[in-house]
Amino acid sequence: MNPLTQIDPEVSAILADEIERETSKLQMIASENFSSPAVLEAQGSVFTNKYAEGYPQARYYQRCGPSDTVEQLAINRAQTLYQAQHANVQPHSGSTANLAAYLALLQPGEKILGMDLAAGGHLTHGAHANFSGKLFQAHAYTVHPETHRIDYDALRKTARKVKPRLIIAGASAYPRNFDFSAFRSICDEVGAYLLVDMAHFAGLVAGGAHPNPVDAADVVTSTTHKTLRGPRGGFILCKAEHARKINSAVFPGVQGGPLMHVVAAKAVCFHEAMQPSFRDYARQIVSNAQALAAALLERKFDLVTGGTDNHLILVDLRNQNMTGAEAAARLEESGIVANKNGIPNDPLGPRVTSGLRLGVPAVTTQGMREPEMAWIAERIARALRGDGGAGELEKIRHEVRELCERFTGGGAS
Ligand SMILES: *Cc1c(COP(=O)(O)O)cnc(C)c1O
Repeated sequence: MNPLTQIDPEVSAILADEIERETSKLQMIASENFSSPAVLEAQGSVFTNKYAEGYPQARYYQRCGPSDTVEQLAINRAQTLYQAQHANVQPHSGSTANLAAYLALLQPGEKILGMDLAAGGHLTHGAHANFSGKLFQAHAYTVHPETHRIDYDALRKTARKVKPRLIIAGASAYPRNFDFSAFRSICDEVGAYLLVDMAHFAGLVAGGAHPNPVDAADVVTSTTHKTLRGPRGGFILCKAEHARKINSAVFPGVQGGPLMHVVAAKAVCFHEAMQPSFRDYARQIVSNAQALAAALLERKFDLVTGGTDNHLILVDLRNQNMTGAEAAARLEESGIVANKNGIPNDPLGPRVTSGLRLGVPAVTTQGMREPEMAWIAERIARALRGDGGAGELEKIRHEVRELCERFTGGGAS
């Protein structure tokens, strides 16, 4: 018997439930993935025992030799992977990375300009409920009312009017690539810093399937656990001139001791992302998302912006007589895990919504390809339109389980 089963059978049983859930259903939440057994091993290692406040060769605790070595390795790998002048691999999460980046570049009360939450932006880009909306004067740009893509002319006008100190490019539910040089030119015109938050598409950048924002941006923030497929955590890349400010904003600015077990797992994840097979993975993510989009369009679903350039799709359900909440619940019944999501100018509130966000990073890790995307689109159509009620959803759930049993390339097993 393993130690967890012996010492805490209650948690052990819950863990078994989670393994069952992850392996028997389609994981289509766009921000989720399956990290590798190597990442999980590093993250579950004895580095969890070590305090290493400070940075390599400049710690506040004794006996940090292995911590120094592993953190320096993670830093070097991140810099090489993204061709960045400086990397900080300590942020505990994407949100913490953003908090540190803002505090490094701005004074509290200064103006920031980020994508509207309702248009696909993230809470940390200036939402009222978040530190970003409380500590800073937050302004928002949105997407074009018809194309639902970023309207760069409108963004330029907003930036001229607001005169923000920082503009944020990045989102959680935007299915198109960002034009980083357009953002750079707008920032230069109004004297703003450019922060690119690549939390969602960091893996696509690493694998060469999305433009790299590092040259255009002053600072790039990210998570490691979304398309990048590493441990849960964050990191920051920046130009050399901002390195000191970024480091002291992370520690001692907003964090205490780094999570050295997670830093070790980040080193592993950057190593994995440097392999040729990761380039194939990133390309396959985009091919799969586009195949799924095409199969949904064929079945008369409306997609926000009409398709996708990246790993996610936003379905506009207004022509389906169904809310996002109903659709997500029906899909869950059918073994397809996705989330309701607001669409631009959504007439319904955030608890209901008119949209459904679908992501393919996890199913792509499992080895699914274009034929499976068409298969999934067919099940989504049956689940959302079928009038067979629970019987039909149960039937789909069994089919989904059989599919998942054929694709065991994911992490949990
Ligand atoms: C997920 C995400 C984050 C936050 O990451 P957490 O690790 O959940 O704090 C930040 N920015 C964007 C754009 C995201 O999608």
